[in-house]
Amino acid sequence: MDAIGMYIHVPFCLGKCPYCDFYSVYPDENLVKEYLGAVKTRIREYSLIYKRGIKTVYFGGGTPNLIGHKGISEILNEIKENFNTENTEEITVECNPNSVTEEFFTEVKKAGVNRISMGLQSANSGELKFLGRKHSAENVLNAVSFAKKAGIENISLDLMIGLENQTKEMLLNSVEFCALLDIPHISSYILKIEENTPFAKRNIVLPDEDASAELYLFVSKELEKRGYNQYEISNYSKEGMESRHNLVYWQGKEYLGIGPGAHSFMENKRFYYERDLKAFIEGAAIVDDGEGGDFEEFLMLNLRLKRGLIKKECAEKFIDGEILFNEALKKAKKIPDMYIETDSERIAITKEGFLISNTIISMLI
Ligand code: SF4
Repeated sequence: MDAIGMYIHVPFCLGKCPYCDFYSVYPDENLVKEYLGAVKTRIREYSLIYKRGIKTVYFGGGTPNLIGHKGISEILNEIKENFNTENTEEITVECNPNSVTEEFFTEVKKAGVNRISMGLQSANSGELKFLGRKHSAENVLNAVSFAKKAGIENISLDLMIGLENQTKEMLLNSVEFCALLDIPHISSYILKIEENTPFAKRNIVLPDEDASAELYLFVSKELEKRGYNQYEISNYSKEGMESRHNLVYWQGKEYLGIGPGAHSFMENKRFYYERDLKAFIEGAAIVDDGEGGDFEEFLMLNLRLKRGLIKKECAEKFIDGEILFNEALKKAKKIPDMYIETDSERIAITKEGFLISNTIISMLI
């Protein structure tokens, strides 16, 4: 059986960024202790149900570094004691650039962490202020150099596109900042106003769809000029440095999510934990989210990737995979070349197509 991805949701933040919809609460010592206990219990319970190897581990949040290197190590040790981690390829920790130290990176490296992901969002102080971020570009620079000193070279930074009054020059400054840090991976998202966030209640004027699309294509071009190849709608990497964990999601493979708000996909079933830390600590049951893993879902996920949907993989995964692929191919051929590339073995969305990927996918299914 294939090895799986494991996602640990660490639901703690020191404040709430006004655009953010992720589940998090303010940490205190007791809460962190109880949370760690609950995560370890879930790891043990799952290991009795799923006898699988672990391909990747991803600590996301929230702000995972707030549980300290000891918290990260405790969880990793529990995973190692209960699952086969002999062939684990990647262990990532998301970090907040202004609350990490050199010691943190040194210690998590010893525990097995080999990848760090940080939210830079922008290298421009005005944009960071607009986003309510508490860090500066200099904090990111220091955090990257701490991580590298500790021997963790596989670092990803997040960039935000489509901010209020954002210009190409501002974006170029952020792109150049990342390139100068010589990190191998960049995620670049268009800002969306999520319901029930402070941004949703303010009268914020973001660039319109056309302007955001122009900025998206601009960033993509500038990143590619600097050796970052786009491999997914919002993700770029140097050769061979794609996020192994996120590829688990996009290739329709299985993963276990542990923590309040974390989602899982195992043995064709989807389930999740409520966004409620207290309930998670008290042992709340998982919530059934129905069946998953059908062809439509596989198509939708794979078309997020630049390489696209591959006929051979469809045939291996589904009894009628080749027929379903050929049906999608017929429909894809009616979409203008500007948005989609096809040959007899593959369907892939182009850069321009990524901007209207939902429309394209609904035309194919
Ligand atoms: S953006 Fe990150 S740091 Fe800010 S509230 Fe959301 S999870 Fe926390």
